[in-house]
Amino acid sequence: MPNFGLDLWYKNAVVYCVDVETYQDGNGDGVGDFPGLTWRLDYLAGLGVTCLWLLPFYPTPNRDNGYDVTDGYGIDPRLGSPGDFVEFMRQARMRGMRVIIDLVVNHTSDQHPWFQAARSDPQSPYRNYYVWSEEQPENAHEGVVFPGVQTRTWTYDQRAKAWYHHRFYQFQPDLNIASAAVRDEIRKIIGYWLELGISGFRMDAVPFVIEHTAGAMDGEAPPLRYDYLSELRTFLSWRSADAIILAEANVEPGHVLEYFGKGDRLQMMFNFWANQHLFLALAREEAGPLVRALDALPELPDMGQWANFLRNHDEIDLGRLSTFERQEAYQAFGPDPAMQLYERGIRRRLAPMLGGNQRRLELAMSLLFSLPGTPVLWYGDEIGMGDNLSLPERNSVRTPMQWTAEPNAGFSTVPAEMLVRPVVDDRTYGYRRINAAAQQRDPGSLLNCVQRMIRARKEHPEFGRGTWRLVDALGPSTFAVLAEAHKEATVAVHNLSREPVETALDLPRDTVRQLSEVLSDQRYPDLDRRSGRMQLDGYGWRWFRFGTYGL
Ligand code: MG
Repeated sequence: MPNFGLDLWYKNAVVYCVDVETYQDGNGDGVGDFPGLTWRLDYLAGLGVTCLWLLPFYPTPNRDNGYDVTDGYGIDPRLGSPGDFVEFMRQARMRGMRVIIDLVVNHTSDQHPWFQAARSDPQSPYRNYYVWSEEQPENAHEGVVFPGVQTRTWTYDQRAKAWYHHRFYQFQPDLNIASAAVRDEIRKIIGYWLELGISGFRMDAVPFVIEHTAGAMDGEAPPLRYDYLSELRTFLSWRSADAIILAEANVEPGHVLEYFGKGDRLQMMFNFWANQHLFLALAREEAGPLVRALDALPELPDMGQWANFLRNHDEIDLGRLSTFERQEAYQAFGPDPAMQLYERGIRRRLAPMLGGNQRRLELAMSLLFSLPGTPVLWYGDEIGMGDNLSLPERNSVRTPMQWTAEPNAGFSTVPAEMLVRPVVDDRTYGYRRINAAAQQRDPGSLLNCVQRMIRARKEHPEFGRGTWRLVDALGPSTFAVLAEAHKEATVAVHNLSREPVETALDLPRDTVRQLSEVLSDQRYPDLDRRSGRMQLDGYGWRWFRFGTYGL
């Protein structure tokens, strides 16, 4: 039934992350671009995507996949012109699709005019945009984000004759959030893109943005300025009432609510905590780690929402698991050291991690679409794309989208050696075998399964905006989650094990009698309405709705 509550669109969004550079080349120069992405909007609309998240597309020396920005108001000319961007926005809007973009304000590129001015002249108004130290700080080698690649967080600049702070690579000097002028610049950037029609931001590296490095005493951890998140939110909401900020913040459950406030800070946060425990659960083929992880999370304020994901454009970060648990996950999904990265993660795509097993991939997708929160897909995972471990660091999972079996996977018409990155061309995950066109023709494909899941998820908005709870189920491998809103309720049941199970949900008998199946991995015999017993094949999953609300 229609309801006239707040339209919290992000709670029922289906978010799809694209890197413009590797999605579709529209002008035949080997680099993905906005005209190419615009052309592919019909594919995305057909899949059921309602919100695109664009990785950074700003002018950049491109030493960190565009996260080293030289102009927060521009479009990287390789990816198109401002005109191409506006036309893309118009075409997305025509299809009812929202767009959120990456907001990178923890740091700039060292080539940014601000940093160039700051290092050249101690009297420059831009000097204080960055964090400097006259002496080498004692902790110059601590707190690196990319261990194994990055060795320090303070670097001496000859020109400036001072040390500058950089939480990430040394070519990414950190902005000084304590400076009112920097906070003004950030507001101006936010306001600019909102005027161009975007619906919000995926905010990069939030815990580092709010750390007040300049205010730290020597050897102390920098204090975190959570109040800055309230300031940002107030500005955002006055400029555009329904715009959101989705935080990249991999934090312990005890710190989560600081980011949401009382509903007056950020609206969404990636659920890194659930993500790593989900993979531990998949590794063990037991529900326990995921159940305990969800139980440990606090209840969010009404406006707050988790963003769930399986894989993203980075390594999968297992840093919140214990050493022993992380080893279990490595063993299952990335045993070769070449598959691991930064002493905490795995730089593989979802499909190779799960052994290319379509049943297991569908199980993972069913978890993604039924966990409490909003699902976020990484481009190419809907067709089970593979990775290229010969590419450095995280570029392994950033290869061009595989559209067809044609040369270059239909991504571009240039000779292969001119591509921005090589297409995956191996025997198992190569584009001749794994591509969107072939899967569209195959009713049993992963792509079509994901599309059906998205449709079912949209038909049951309680998944996104409802209250949720875990339901006890018979057997250690069974995971069941129930969502309800506005007198509608749905329960999704999963078998994380490769072995078939018979299970039963711990629900009142009257409730069980009303369950009717919405979607499943295969046709099952009806569940036994008296005992509530039901079958699940190895890696099987079944979604049920309650015929009439009766809990
Ligand atoms: Mg191009």
